[in-house]
Amino acid sequence: MSREVIAATPEAFAEFLHKLRLIRRRRKAELRGTIAPRQSLSPAERKEVSRKTAGRCHICGGAIDGKWHADHVFSHSAGGAHAADNYLPAHALCNNYRWDYSADEFQAILKLGVWVRTEIEHKSTLGLKLADRYLAHERSRNGRRGESADE
Ligand SMILES: [Zn+2]
Repeated sequence: MSREVIAATPEAFAEFLHKLRLIRRRRKAELRGTIAPRQSLSPAERKEVSRKTAGRCHICGGAIDGKWHADHVFSHSAGGAHAADNYLPAHALCNNYRWDYSADEFQAILKLGVWVRTEIEHKSTLGLKLADRYLAHERSRNGRRGESADE
């Protein structure tokens, strides 16, 4: 279930994004108490999951060397099963950003990210402003975590 989002105004777009968040929260609240606690995969199951993508992250496609997450394809928070079939390997960073967004919400985020990236590369006034704010945000995040950068 995904669709193109063309809002008439910036406010309508903001409301659309907010509505998607509310839908996600409502879905999560409805399922609260019905979801089994997260379980770990056995080493054999993890090997099976990793083999599905030949050791690549299913989100970004990059090679996985070192730690990785077995990511629920149908999200745990939405009632996705604990079965090797429902997992794919993902970088921890990619998995943390993918979070439990719905397909609609994640597609909107991807499109926004690509658009912002282009604005920054073209050094538009808005792009440079966004880059400045983003870099300050990242420095602040990294400072809070006591690390220099994400991997
Ligand atoms: Zn990745």
